[in-house]
Amino acid sequence: MKPTHIPFNKPYQSGRELLYIQEAIKAGQLSGNGQFTKQCQTYFEQQYHIHKALLTTSGTAALEMAALLLSLHPGDEVVVPSFTFTSTANAFVLRGARIVFADSSAEHPNIDVSQLESLITPRTRAIVPVHYAGVSCNMAAIMSLAERFNLAVIEDAAQAVESYHLGKPLGSFGQLAAFSFHETKNLIAGEGGLLAINSPELAPRAEIMWEKGTNRAAFFRGEAAKYQWVDIGSSFLPSELNAAYLWAQLEAKARILEQRRQQWHRYHHAFREVATEGLAELPVIPAYAQPNWHIFYLVCRNLPERQRLIQHLAEQNILAVFHYQTLHDSPYYQALHDGRPLPNAQRFADCLVRLPLYFELSEDDQLRVIEAVLSYFARLRKTSS
Ligand SMILES: *Cc1c(COP(=O)(O)O)cnc(C)c1O
Repeated sequence: MKPTHIPFNKPYQSGRELLYIQEAIKAGQLSGNGQFTKQCQTYFEQQYHIHKALLTTSGTAALEMAALLLSLHPGDEVVVPSFTFTSTANAFVLRGARIVFADSSAEHPNIDVSQLESLITPRTRAIVPVHYAGVSCNMAAIMSLAERFNLAVIEDAAQAVESYHLGKPLGSFGQLAAFSFHETKNLIAGEGGLLAINSPELAPRAEIMWEKGTNRAAFFRGEAAKYQWVDIGSSFLPSELNAAYLWAQLEAKARILEQRRQQWHRYHHAFREVATEGLAELPVIPAYAQPNWHIFYLVCRNLPERQRLIQHLAEQNILAVFHYQTLHDSPYYQALHDGRPLPNAQRFADCLVRLPLYFELSEDDQLRVIEAVLSYFARLRKTSS
């Protein structure tokens, strides 16, 4: 008989989600910008030192708002890592920007800051660091480079709620930052996101774009005489139902993070010999980064070995997945890319494997994953010696 299935992810319920959704229904406002939306936004502003937070329908929508706020012109260039989710680049492509793809660093999937300066041209408008796995990019280096060349920094902090760089919260560095509450992230709303606005001068326009190009929010605060169409915008607000779900998650944040921290370390500890022997690499956490344990991954030696590991786990009914096909040679962008090879991003795309990590992963099930991974490497050890 096949052992029970261990999924890769399972959306977590803290227990208060339905209660808060019922409260939202009782309050009689299900559309956006109600009580739960405001509570979530205030929470982010206070906890993460964000000037203004706006809840969005997704992390993608938050990135699209950021791109709108940059007022990009066709041909403007935006520097984006190739090893990331499509939305990181797509949001700017929608505004007519040209994407200049950056490589990952050799030791971890985050953007290689040592190569950044060579990618900057007179047309460069912004750098978009992605904090992969909730591990901070080298923000000190990125912020000082951006200042020197007068560039905007848009943090893709989709995976990085409650992660820090030298004690400062991620999402509070860039002029703008995007978080995600997609069901695969640490804290979830089904679908949801948040735009962090750290440049006060961008806040009034952000609020207008958020409300379909109207001054609705200012009008309801009594700051505008009429409710009118005043700028471009779209429908970026989530419903109160999603905000209510998210509020229950924010309340349970400490518990959720502690569980993931323990699971992450259990994996890390179990595979240290595999790493010492050079059969696979463990995640590297730079000294400046305090992560949120979003992802545990291994980096295999090559693509066939990574595929065989995923297959080996699948045979034991365990779902492990690879992460990110590089964007610079994607079917959509390869003809538009300038042709530079990005070997580090390519290596992570070929060799990285993510293991199951979610709140309800029991210790027994995690031990089953660990044994299955170790049995794969035991076989690999035999065949390679
Ligand atoms: C999840 C994710 C996104 C998109 O967030 P959604 O809420 O799914 O739209 C963008 N960038 C990165 C790095 C992500 O992991």
